[in-house]
Amino acid sequence: MTARLLLAKPVAEKIQAEVAEIARHLTEKGHKPGLAAVLVGNDPASHTYVGSKVKTCQNLGLHSEKIELPTETTTEPLLAVVEDLNRRSDIHGILVQMPLPSHIDSPAIIRAIHPDKDVDGFHPVSAGRLVLKQDGFVACTPAGIIEMLAFYDIPIRGTRAAILGRSTIVGLPMSLLLLHRDATVTICHSRTPDIARVAREADILVAAIGRTAFVTEDFIREGATVIDVGINRVSTPEDVAEYFGDDEKRRADVEKKGYSIIGDVHPRHAVERAANFTPVPGGVGPLTIAMLMKNTVRAAERSVR
Ligand code: NAP
Repeated sequence: MTARLLLAKPVAEKIQAEVAEIARHLTEKGHKPGLAAVLVGNDPASHTYVGSKVKTCQNLGLHSEKIELPTETTTEPLLAVVEDLNRRSDIHGILVQMPLPSHIDSPAIIRAIHPDKDVDGFHPVSAGRLVLKQDGFVACTPAGIIEMLAFYDIPIRGTRAAILGRSTIVGLPMSLLLLHRDATVTICHSRTPDIARVAREADILVAAIGRTAFVTEDFIREGATVIDVGINRVSTPEDVAEYFGDDEKRRADVEKKGYSIIGDVHPRHAVERAANFTPVPGGVGPLTIAMLMKNTVRAAERSVR
């Protein structure tokens, strides 16, 4: 079997076209949707992520603001920034880029964001609403995966799903979203014995653990849908050959940049055994920002109801 590659691009483009349309309507009525992104410190990856989010806002006609604060910022002043954004009527979504420096009380910062502006879906109220199957904001990566499954007509109801990873931003909400859509869900984590056996039973296998090519052929049921959320790096020609075979582009990546991006799933094994597979990069990644935009226009729509 050669897996169909599920790409995020057409899914993200569809979501973004809908977002741009809603943003245009709201702007015409004087309610331009606005997203504030708060960034503490100099982490290069966080700067890149926030930069992409702000740029996507601009492309889709949303107002966006980047609030950059020095690494030394402490919890109290950061809480004050969030409170100020909570009060502003031109800001509908607030995201505080994680991870924050370790001296900051991150849970307190997340709790301070008004649940109506919690477009990342990390607030305990949002998490509670998801558990209770109530309307609310859902973490963007798992919400995007649900959109992707719908886009590619992959059924969920009645299937068996295995989720590798139980983080509050990916694994756990992913499990709930699939459960609410009538999948039978097993959640695996670092203490789960014989994960391969559990994974092999799954029609839908989601890997979100952050371990290079952890999922090998013995984890994958023939004909399964395999969603690879992981973002890791390979940096040796031997690893590139093992995971990607003769892929020239991957080899060039390693020569030029010193690494190539890889997920939690062994890509050659997945392509051989799965029916559907999200490649890394290009599979899940672009959905996350698209869903953030969707959540922001939803927040704006709700604010004027
Ligand atoms: P995380 O918070 O570090 O959680 C990792 C989870 O994986 C934990 O539940 C952990 O189990 C489990 N785990 C770790 N090693 C394991 C092992 N050897 N066997 C079984 N389970 C194991 O990570 P995360 O934030 O969910 O992210 C996971 C991956 O997805 C990372 O590579 C991250 O970069 C990527 N990611 C991608 C996107 C995207 O947009 N594409 C978005 C978010 C995250 P315990 O709970 O027992 O410790």
